Amino acid sequence: MSMRIKACPCALPRRRFLGTSLALGAAAFAAGGTFSELAYADAMSKAQREKLTPDDVLALMKKGNKRFSRGTRQDHNYLAQQRASAGGQYPVAVLLSCIDSRAPAETIMDLRIGDVFNSRVAGNVESHDVLGGMEFACKLSGAKVVLVMGHTACGAVKGAIDNAELGNLTALLAKIRPAVDATAYAGERSSKNYPFVDAVARKNVELTIANIRRDSPVLAEMEKSGAIRIAGSMYDLQTGVIEFFA
Ligand SMILES: [Zn+2]
Repeated sequence: MSMRIKACPCALPRRRFLGTSLALGAAAFAAGGTFSELAYADAMSKAQREKLTPDDVLALMKKGNKRFSRGTRQDHNYLAQQRASAGGQYPVAVLLSCIDSRAPAETIMDLRIGDVFNSRVAGNVESHDVLGGMEFACKLSGAKVVLVMGHTACGAVKGAIDNAELGNLTALLAKIRPAVDATAYAGERSSKNYPFVDAVARKNVELTIANIRRDSPVLAEMEKSGAIRIAGSMYDLQTGVIEFFA
């Protein structure tokens, strides 16, 4: 495990120094190697991952988003991460998020190369292909969390609200329509009303999770036994903050 902490904290901006100190304190507290130490490794090892519970993995992602949204992200050496992970991967989670260019999961959770599997589909809807990837990630590869992440001002959600039609997009948006119909909302139900768009996006995450459980007995059984957690979240494009539903 390589350590890449700046030699002299006094050279760092105050906010950065505070963030580093807190992370170091957590690492020192967590003797024996837990997720708190991962901030300074170039890649996840199998032994490190085995010590993590699904709740630890969620905590890791929450802490990473806090670093991102507060401007205290790690000083990534991507070349070192690429080299450290080239011989094998031990991702802790599999994500399902939107293709939106402003919501790159690894960046907004301050993660490293090799930390998570990442499925990206417009509107973060599930399909048999996506489920196949998730089952590989969890059952065969050892990931401990399935995280579905929606985001605010989602164009796919707007398209579903507007009943937009275009080539293959029509069928994709049809998968989001149930969320539009299921969203209880007293105000203007239009794609121009962002609170409604975001309420639909949230409902879409909830329904996607329900669909994952329904369509993948493999994942449903793993969740039931406690081997994995299936969780939802919403990313706010304005604040940079991810709200985890659990
Ligand atoms: Zn989107």
